[in-house]
Amino acid sequence: PSGATASTIKQVKLERESELRIEVGNDAPLRLRLLNGTAEIFGTELPPQIWLNFPPTLKFAVFSWYGATIELDGSTETDYTADETPMVNYVNVHAVLEGRRSRAKASSPDDPESSQGPRVIVVGATDSGKSTLSRMLLSWAAKQGWKPTYVDLDIGQGSITIPACIAATPIEMPIDPVEGIPLEIPLVYYYGHTTPSNNVELYKVLVKELAGMLERQFSGNAESRAAGMVINTMGWIEGVGYDLLLHAIRTFKANVILVLGQEKLWSMLKDALKTEPKVDVVKLQKSGGVVLRNTKVRQRARSFRIREYFYGLANDLSPHSNIANFSDLCVYRVGGGPQAPRSALPIGAEPAADPTRVVPVNINRDLLHLVLAVSFATEPDEIISSNVAGFIFVTDVDIQRKKITYLAPSAGDLPSKYLIVGSLTWLET
Ligand code: ATP
Repeated sequence: PSGATASTIKQVKLERESELRIEVGNDAPLRLRLLNGTAEIFGTELPPQIWLNFPPTLKFAVFSWYGATIELDGSTETDYTADETPMVNYVNVHAVLEGRRSRAKASSPDDPESSQGPRVIVVGATDSGKSTLSRMLLSWAAKQGWKPTYVDLDIGQGSITIPACIAATPIEMPIDPVEGIPLEIPLVYYYGHTTPSNNVELYKVLVKELAGMLERQFSGNAESRAAGMVINTMGWIEGVGYDLLLHAIRTFKANVILVLGQEKLWSMLKDALKTEPKVDVVKLQKSGGVVLRNTKVRQRARSFRIREYFYGLANDLSPHSNIANFSDLCVYRVGGGPQAPRSALPIGAEPAADPTRVVPVNINRDLLHLVLAVSFATEPDEIISSNVAGFIFVTDVDIQRKKITYLAPSAGDLPSKYLIVGSLTWLET
């Protein structure tokens, strides 16, 4: 009824350098618009007067540098204003990066060192606001006309494509506060699991592949070289997680390390990198607005991401159910494989599974509800070094008729018959 709708509208006045933190309610979307002044959502400016729709459960902040009035229509889980934010520090980092980009652009492209823009990596514990800071830095850079490369190494909560992947994509425009990062041209490698401990070696190999591929792309593209990159990482910062951070820093030759709200990690990294004079390790405060997410919420977020891949954010895509013969597809798993029995080894030797061995997988009902990646490989040997074209979801396996039914973003043949399986599952909801 129209009366009820009208009564939910409210106006919020934002003072300069303050933000409105919002968690959209669980059941209904929220509409919001900028009535006057200027404001941004994670680095992307709001258009004046235009109503924007935010889906249920979304968590975000509307920040204003100079003051604004915001109008909300709908119910929220929470909404409050905060005037203590780390935004001034964040934008100062941006200013330093801008200077380095300009210097890189002004240098001769033949000098690989000075023509390289900043390579920023954002590290910190889970829920420290890494993805959000990455996003702001990218959107501010894009607003200034740069096309920085966004690299996401977080296989738990990816922001470029579905979970269990590492990926990169150029950011050509400030990131849309609702739609997120456009999916048109990402470079994606499928790891297949949502935690690196499943196969640490494979994770490292894929990070290396992705870095190598970007390096090749940069060498032919002075513009994106000068814009540099922003690398988002996982929240696993202890033990092996720490080793993986160092590995990523070195593999991508990161030269600006932004450490969010972690004194200990900052001093460890500073110490580990002290012999590398051109690397800055910068400590940054985390925002009080970052929302903590428990395991269940993370699982739900993963599931939403997969759903979004097939159906679109607003159910605006129509995936296709396809049927293939077993013989049309070759499914591979990376790592593990049958171990040599202890009795077959020399005395004292431990059986070791090669973590990067590519092993063919029998098509059977074990594949049900798994998400498979479609590799660009043209032969099994290339599977590890190849990025992926997209994903399918196995909905039925008919052993008798040797047919497999799967959901794909579109109809027609897959771009390749080589599929990669890991442990990523999805329960269609
Ligand atoms: P993870 O390591 O788990 O991926 P993260 O460190 O990348 O987490 P973010 O994803 O950036 O953390 O932030 C967690 C959540 O908090 C997100 O939903 C984000 O939109 C929200 N958030 C971040 N900053 C703010 C803020 N200032 N106000 C309101 N919500 C915020």
